Amino acid sequence: MTSRRVRREKKTIGVMVAMYCRAHHCPGEAGGLCRQCRDLLAYAEARIDRCVFRDSKPACNRCRVHCYGRQMRDEVRSVMRFAGPRMMGAHPVLAVMHLADGFRYRGGERRETRTTPR
Ligand SMILES: [Zn+2]
Repeated sequence: MTSRRVRREKKTIGVMVAMYCRAHHCPGEAGGLCRQCRDLLAYAEARIDRCVFRDSKPACNRCRVHCYGRQMRDEVRSVMRFAGPRMMGAHPVLAVMHLADGFRYRGGERRETRTTPR
C-alpha cells in the first residue's frame, strides 16, 4: 500500500531535484533530469519506500534515522538547501505540506494538526 504521505513525499523530492538540476546542471534530456539527479531521485524514492516508519514517518529532514548513505545524504542536503526556500514560490502547496509534516512531529508528542485534504 502506498499512502498519501508517501506519494506526497515522493512528489516533493521529485520537484526539488528537478529544480536543483535545472539550476546546477544542464539536463537537456527528455524528463529534464541529468543522470546524476535521476540516480539521486531513484535512491531517495527507494529510501522512502523502505522507511522504517512507514505511514508515521516524519519528513526526512527531521527524521532521526539516517537511512541515507553518506554521499547521497550530502547530495540530498544540497538539493533541499537550494530548493527548500524556492518551493514556497513555485509550489506553495507542496512546500507548506512539507513543512507541516515537519512541525507535526516536533517535540516527542504527536499532534494531529489536520491539514484539510484538498
Ligand atoms: Zn542534475
